[in-house]
Amino acid sequence: MNNSHVSILELDLNALQYNVQYFRNKLSKETKLLGVVKAFSYGHDALAVSKTLQSATIDYLAVAYTEEGIYLRENGITLPILVLHAQIQNYELLIEHNLEPNIYSKKTLNSFLKSAKEKQCSHYPIHLKFNTGLNRLGFTKTDVEYITDILKENEQVHINSIFSHLAASEDANERDFTHTQIDKFKNIIEKVTKEFPYKIDLHLSNTSGIINYPEAHFDMVRLGIGMYGFGNETAETAQLKNIGTLKTIISQIHEVRPGESSGYNRAYIAKKRTKTATIPIGHADGISRRLGNGNGSVKINGHMCPIVGNVCMDMLMVDVTNINCNEGDEVVLFDSQEMLNELARKSGTISYEILTGISQRIARKIVS
Ligand SMILES: *Cc1c(COP(=O)(O)O)cnc(C)c1O
Repeated sequence: MNNSHVSILELDLNALQYNVQYFRNKLSKETKLLGVVKAFSYGHDALAVSKTLQSATIDYLAVAYTEEGIYLRENGITLPILVLHAQIQNYELLIEHNLEPNIYSKKTLNSFLKSAKEKQCSHYPIHLKFNTGLNRLGFTKTDVEYITDILKENEQVHINSIFSHLAASEDANERDFTHTQIDKFKNIIEKVTKEFPYKIDLHLSNTSGIINYPEAHFDMVRLGIGMYGFGNETAETAQLKNIGTLKTIISQIHEVRPGESSGYNRAYIAKKRTKTATIPIGHADGISRRLGNGNGSVKINGHMCPIVGNVCMDMLMVDVTNINCNEGDEVVLFDSQEMLNELARKSGTISYEILTGISQRIARKIVS
C-alpha cells in the first residue's frame, strides 16, 4: 500500500546499467559478476533491477532470504540465484524454486542434504561459505575434512562455489587485516578444491573489495552498493551514476507567528514570523527523526529548506519562509549521491541504511 503515488522513488535503470559496466570494466574477462539484489535490491525495486541485470548478462544474483528469491522466480527471473542466508525451515521451498543455498555450518549442511534427499535431487547446486574473520556466518578451517568426507561421494549436491566475506574492505586502515582474510581464504580453498574433480568457483569481494583488492577477484565478485551508485569514497562515487530520486510534494503551507510552535512536543518555537511547509513523508518512510530540528533539509524549487521541529511518522515540516512555493510543489529528499550521503551522515548512518530504509509505501517508478 503506497501513498497514492505522491511520494515517489524514481529509478533510472540506464544509470544502473552504466554502473554495472563501470565495475565490469574493472574485472578480467573471465571473472563472473554477481549482482546483489537482497532487501528489495537495496530498497530500489528487486524485480526491475533483476530484469535489468538479466538483460545486462550478469552471471548470478544473490538475495538474503528464500522468499526474496521466490518472488524473483515467480516473476520470470531465470538467472541462478544464491540465497545468502537461507533458513533451514525453507530448504524444500528453496529447492522447489531452483534457488541455491549458502551452506555455512555442519547443521545447515546436514539439514540441506536431508532435504535434497527427500526431494530426490541430483547434483543440486550449493555454495559453501567460510568464515575468514567477519565472524558472522561460515564454516571454519577445521571443518574442511568433515565437509569433504561427506560431500566427496555425495551425488545429491554439487559445490558450485566456495566463498567468504570481507569485514573491512572499504577501510584503508585495515589493509593488513583484509590481507589476512585473503590469505586464509586461499589456504582454505586450496584444501577443499583438491578433493573434488570438478571446477568450483571462488569468490570473496564485495563492492569495496572489487575496488581496493583487484588481486582478490578470484572467479566471481559480488557487487552490491556499487551498482546502486555508491563507491567507497567520493572520487569513486563521482564516477558512478545516480539511480534514485526520492521526491514528494507540499501538502500544506502554514504561517507560524512568533511564540507559536510547530509539530510534536512543540520542539520548534518560532522566533519570528515563519512560513512552514508540511511534507507527506516521515520516519515511517525512512526519514530519521535525527534529521529533525534543523539537522536535515529538503530541496524545494532549488532551495534547501531545513526541517523544523520533530520528524513525525508520516510527515515533516520545513522552513520555507524565504522561498517562493505553493501547496503541490515538488519536494526533493535526494536526487544525487551527494545528497543521499549527506542525509546518511546527518542521520548518523551510511548510504546502505538510507536506501534500504525507504518504506514500501513509497512507490517505485521507473523513469528510464
Ligand atoms: C550484501 C553482501 C554483499 C554486497 O556488498 P556491497 O558492499 O553492497 O557490495 C556481498 N556479499 C555478501 C555476503 C553480502 O551479504
